[in-house]
Amino acid sequence: MSEGLREGRASSTGTTPIAAREHQAVEPSDDSIARMVFVKSARDLKFIRVNSTAQKLLGLSEPELIGKTDRDIFPPGEAARIQRDDWTVLDAGNVGPVFEESLITRFGRRWFWTQKVPVPGIDGRPDLLLTFSEDVTEQRGLRTASQMWEQVFHDAERGIVVGTPDGTTLDLMNPAFARMHGYTVEELAGTPLLDIFAPEARRAVPAMLELVRRDGQHTFESFHLRKNGTAFPVLVDATAVKDAQGNVQYRALNVQDISQLKSAERGLRADRAEAERANEAKSQFLSRMSHELRTPLNVILGFAQVMQLDDLTPSQSENVDHILQAGRDLLALIDDVLDISRVESGKMALSVESVGVAEMAEEVLRLMRPLADRHGVRVAQTTPECDYRVFADRQRLKQVLLNLVSNGIKYNVRGGYLTVECVATESEVSISVSDTGVGIPNDSVERLFAPFERLGKEGTQIEGTGLGLSISKSLVEAMGGTISAARRAQQGSVFTVHLKRSQLPQGDPAPAATNAESSGGATGLVLYIEDNLASFQLVEKVLSQRPGVKVLPAMQAGIGLQLAQDYQPDLILLDLHLPDMTGEEVLQQLRHNPQTWSIPVVVASADATSRRLERLLELGAKVYLTKPIDVRELLDTIDRFLPDALTPQNPGT
Ligand code: ADP
Repeated sequence: MSEGLREGRASSTGTTPIAAREHQAVEPSDDSIARMVFVKSARDLKFIRVNSTAQKLLGLSEPELIGKTDRDIFPPGEAARIQRDDWTVLDAGNVGPVFEESLITRFGRRWFWTQKVPVPGIDGRPDLLLTFSEDVTEQRGLRTASQMWEQVFHDAERGIVVGTPDGTTLDLMNPAFARMHGYTVEELAGTPLLDIFAPEARRAVPAMLELVRRDGQHTFESFHLRKNGTAFPVLVDATAVKDAQGNVQYRALNVQDISQLKSAERGLRADRAEAERANEAKSQFLSRMSHELRTPLNVILGFAQVMQLDDLTPSQSENVDHILQAGRDLLALIDDVLDISRVESGKMALSVESVGVAEMAEEVLRLMRPLADRHGVRVAQTTPECDYRVFADRQRLKQVLLNLVSNGIKYNVRGGYLTVECVATESEVSISVSDTGVGIPNDSVERLFAPFERLGKEGTQIEGTGLGLSISKSLVEAMGGTISAARRAQQGSVFTVHLKRSQLPQGDPAPAATNAESSGGATGLVLYIEDNLASFQLVEKVLSQRPGVKVLPAMQAGIGLQLAQDYQPDLILLDLHLPDMTGEEVLQQLRHNPQTWSIPVVVASADATSRRLERLLELGAKVYLTKPIDVRELLDTIDRFLPDALTPQNPGT
């Protein structure tokens, strides 16, 4: 036979001994037997012959099948499995085991037992593969439903156990249940139900079982015990099977070992705690950084401002301007970075109130007018349509609008326009800042709001950090609004802030006006508690602008408290980082002493985190001045709290 096959392989076509062999293999397969026979080439698994049963079952004629492979006939997964088995048998070179195959035929899905037989060729290696597939669909159907359930019960991954009718003892269980507890089924059958629970979990079991009885089903977490004495967490899904009268016949428990789930949960919790710790550390680091960076900057900016007050030559004055400009830029950058991290960590304290849009927009445009003049950009007045109110944090909304307007000027062209317009619905006000500038590249609108994204403006003369829009977005969202950007049809871009509309009538009381601007010569005693000599000298120098004001220095909190009591100053200026006490403690002690509790305290610190600020205002600080101290702001504050001395009788000394 093998001789014949060899001859067959040697000749090319025609009725050769090999063809006769193939025929022989498929010949017996007439219609009377439900067996598909295929002869496949061992080289590429193409069909060389198929019998009539196969043609009938597959609904394809012989010419339609010859030269094809299983991949051309069956779904890819099915075909891949058949071919994998074919190659296994061919590689082994022996008759393969009986494979159970399920195939889609023209009569639907059928089940086959398939035997694969490799036929050796001229070199002894198989060059044909005969496959015989017997249709066993009907036999399979004969398996009873109960046999199938038994199989499911046996093979299930979850532990399943059924108790005795009185519910006290384990009766039937699947191997998974026994395995989960480190036993065999035989060892565990007949064990008291309570014994599989960990001792500390046993007390709760009767109540759980009672719930199962009452409701028919109850799911609970508990701890089970392994053979080696270790406890492990489980999720138990218990069902009570009742008879027609409602009496419980037996209880079945479906038990899942949730050790891995629990340890993943624990890991997640630990990760979250770690992330929170890291975030807290980041906040502290930022607070510290802000302090460390602002203190020297305070001195640089402060003394530069003091120098400005002197008689300077034009060149000196220009140099001082450079120092101030660079210092302010650096300060803005520090503030931006702090803002971003504060908003990110949800620590940005917002005080949302009803804010008039028209007044706010006008103020912003007024503040930005000098910048617009420098850039040759014409700024239009706000339109009457902006006469609405929105829910917003006044300072933060101002920050957002300042950013949008300054961008509209910076990225504009000489002779261009900038306008602020508003549109309102019942519930929302949209404030748009439009410009006629360079516009936003086509595909970049999305990227505009990403931190540090400058869209290629890095190499240009236009200064920026790429943080403004990203902070604006976070702020507007924190106020419950949204911000969007668009290209304008002709030229330029438009940025729109959408905020909730407030229906409050106009004319709510304006904040108490300070007479700081008008006042020029305060008088009195200021106690300055500050350990940094340079900061102290700076304030002293600034206050020399108010000849009627005397400054009493205290380099330590303890001395400061003593001086406050002894001298009863008109105002206390307090730094927060003192060698012997925190600023908060000083504030508390001042408040608790009947001799000092009414003295106004102004905090001056470089540590500008919002949480701290809130805390200090709560403790009774009147004003919080952020270092680097703005000379004008300090003078205004002094004027506000100290008696005005601009009287002919008291010219000051
Ligand atoms: P910055 O102005 O400091 O670079 P922003 O976050 O405010 O940072 O803006 C990010 C980028 O978006 C800018 O660098 C600029 O490329 C682009 N951009 C912002 N506003 C405008 C505008 N009005 N017109 C054109 N481009 C703008």
